Amino acid sequence: MNAFTNRTVALANGVAMPWLGMGVFKVEEGQELVEAVKAAVRLGYRSIDTAAVYANESSVGQGIREALEENGLSRDQLFVTSKVWNSDLGYEETLAAYEASLSKLGLDYLDLYLIHWPVAGKYKDAWRALETLYKDGRVKAIGVSNFHVSHLEDLMKDAAVRPMVDQVEFHPLLSQPELRRFAKAQGIQLEAWSPLMQGQLLDHPLLSDIASRHGKSVAQVLIRWDLQHGVITIPKSTKAERLAENAAVDDFELTPTEMESIDALNENRRVGPDPDNFDF
Ligand code: NDP
Repeated sequence: MNAFTNRTVALANGVAMPWLGMGVFKVEEGQELVEAVKAAVRLGYRSIDTAAVYANESSVGQGIREALEENGLSRDQLFVTSKVWNSDLGYEETLAAYEASLSKLGLDYLDLYLIHWPVAGKYKDAWRALETLYKDGRVKAIGVSNFHVSHLEDLMKDAAVRPMVDQVEFHPLLSQPELRRFAKAQGIQLEAWSPLMQGQLLDHPLLSDIASRHGKSVAQVLIRWDLQHGVITIPKSTKAERLAENAAVDDFELTPTEMESIDALNENRRVGPDPDNFDF
């Protein structure tokens, strides 16, 4: 199978991470989420992105366990990410937060654990905790989220292990050219959150035009644009038909001119908070 849900990129430590996964932000605990995770795995998704602050790790974990059994998969065939929340940033606090996430998910390890936001004065202690978890073999890979170049540079001054991933807001209105260049030079894999700009780009005239040229949807064009930039992407849907649509991006390619015209839409505009001005 050649789908991007199944194709992987090697992180700096060699761990294989799927290019395309499922996000579950703003989905509450409950049967809808359990069923959505199972539908995603049935459709070929192998990567699921949650966070302690989404308060849905129990249902994500239940969905994962049921999906593994239903599809005859082993745990190592799925890639599970969670994130430590701002109030738990500290060496001991972060170690405890990791155990709490594992316990809610009902798993004995994560594939990727991220610092959710770069809270000043706190993220270095949290990073030491992630390094401990990594060196002890408790987690396959560690990284950060919402880190600007300045935060990455600061973190790496004292880090023994470099972050393997930076998960940031990324879509055509915020295409992060400086961060992309920096991450590439440092061997840090970028991962896009809100790749569909939470739905706000789906009527965009240029994107609609490109989509109809390829006989694809705007969501598929956005996902393809991430992948052609070498950025991992995790669009969120709880609907099986949209999960299927978002995964069906192997049968077309954006031309260099189309990529450039989408890149030119950048306005440094965010749907989420700016990590430099976030009220932590
Ligand atoms: P997305 O950009 O993925 O957009 C999700 C929205 O688009 C939902 O309303 C969904 O609705 C809709 N949608 C999905 N697919 C389609 C489609 N094919 N056609 C039309 N509409 C569609 O937003 P998110 O903010 O959820 O970002 C994705 C993931 O990134 C999150 O779920 C989370 O895992 C992660 N994230 C991380 C953050 C961080 O700080 N690290 C911050 C924010 C997100 P529906 O479900 O009804 O289909």
